[in-house]
Amino acid sequence: MQTKTLFTRIMDGEIPGHFVYQDEHLVAIRDINPAAPVHVLVIPRKPIPSLAELEEEDAELAGRLLLAVSRIAREEGLARGYRVVINTGEEGGQTVPHLHIHILGGRALTGHGTA
Ligand code: 5GP
Repeated sequence: MQTKTLFTRIMDGEIPGHFVYQDEHLVAIRDINPAAPVHVLVIPRKPIPSLAELEEEDAELAGRLLLAVSRIAREEGLARGYRVVINTGEEGGQTVPHLHIHILGGRALTGHGTA
């Protein structure tokens, strides 16, 4: 049996998480170490290791993830704008090997990182 990722363990209720949205395809949780007043992670239930491993068969899921980002940002009141980040691989600063999209907002964001 493959080891579950941290995010799969949160989805399965083995580790607590603050869910802002969940459906059969994806979940959204608040980041445990927020880099902005709003910091939400949008995560597919399918444990795709990173954006680099996204496959053609994931096209519909990828669309669902982006639509969820847009909807959640609206629901979080980020009408003035927000940043979307997908850290990918070692040099991309990815620390959890399960594809996830950061939504950062609620303050002016400068530079290019999640900081
Ligand atoms: P990455 O660096 O891989 O792009 O992002 C991983 C994110 O997961 C980080 O922003 C980190 O704060 C967050 N994170 C790590 N462990 C946990 C956890 O147990 N719960 C939640 N909600 N977020 C976590």
